[in-house]
Amino acid sequence: MPKQTQQKNFNERIVPFTAGDGFSCNLIHVRGDQPPVKGPVLLVHGAGVRGNIFRPPNETTLVDFLSANGYDVWLSNWRASIDLAPNDWTLDQAALYDHPAAVQTVIEETGATEIKAIIHCQGSTSFTMSAIAGLVPQVKTIISNAVSLHPIVPRGSRIKLSVAVPLVSLMTDHLNPRWGVHAPTVAAKLIKTVVELTHHECDNPVCKQVSFTYGTGFPALWRHENLTAATHEWIKQEFGFVPIRFFNQIARCVRSGHLVSVEGKKGLPEDFAAIEPQTNARFSFLAGGKNLCFLPESQQKSFEHFDKFRKNYHTFHLFPEYSHLDVFFGKAAAKDTFPVILDELDRPR
Ligand SMILES: [Zn+2]
Repeated sequence: MPKQTQQKNFNERIVPFTAGDGFSCNLIHVRGDQPPVKGPVLLVHGAGVRGNIFRPPNETTLVDFLSANGYDVWLSNWRASIDLAPNDWTLDQAALYDHPAAVQTVIEETGATEIKAIIHCQGSTSFTMSAIAGLVPQVKTIISNAVSLHPIVPRGSRIKLSVAVPLVSLMTDHLNPRWGVHAPTVAAKLIKTVVELTHHECDNPVCKQVSFTYGTGFPALWRHENLTAATHEWIKQEFGFVPIRFFNQIARCVRSGHLVSVEGKKGLPEDFAAIEPQTNARFSFLAGGKNLCFLPESQQKSFEHFDKFRKNYHTFHLFPEYSHLDVFFGKAAAKDTFPVILDELDRPR
């Protein structure tokens, strides 16, 4: 039986690392009361949030759970993190420069020869790009949530990406869900007003702004019934800057049906579905059945793609009552999703 115990006495330290192009990132190394008996696991957040997204005010977070079950937990703050300097990032930059450097830093800090990773949303797309391009050979198990190689979005989001994003980009080069509580510019005030007029699902302005920014649902990234009131409130401080440049890339990926690079940088293929993945990592693809940001078909399709190259090696798990981020910070995630994640991490390759 997995241990559910929450460890409160964490020893936490920030480990800075420099990405391949010189950008400053960091890792948060979280260690519980007991020294880890299993290897390092790297947690990779999505767009415009931070490593802390895995630590909601729930009784047992994924960090507690992994630590209590023997893992050495590392939270990555890559260049899309709101803890770092706002920047005009692309998935290409993250794949080429950030994730390989983060993995290498964990290897050097721990002395381990291999690690595992849990990757979410745009941390997952970009990390999958790193893996397919052969840039993170030390990672042997990869648990991906929501989207990886095949971003498939609801019809409303396709329209939004092709019509609203170009319009919004005339006014601003970035979005920020915190504009729901503080709108500093004319563009921010205008977007805040649009969200207030169109979103009536709750009274949390950041929650509504997140749904406007990242999907077409009410809400888009979680189901309200899956969250505690405290987590719903905590969300307000966990979202921030995201560049329009990223949305332009994901729009191209959605139109292509799979990930594509946009900067023509050496070391990344242009079409990530056209080459055999240059990794021997075992992937476990997770999807929320009610995800309104990326449809669960996204992960099903990526599983089938990887399965073609190596039969019966990778896995796919559907959580029917979950959406996007509640897979990690839902009030019952410790019971519903964490044991599945642990089982995948523990499984011998
Ligand atoms: Zn809400």
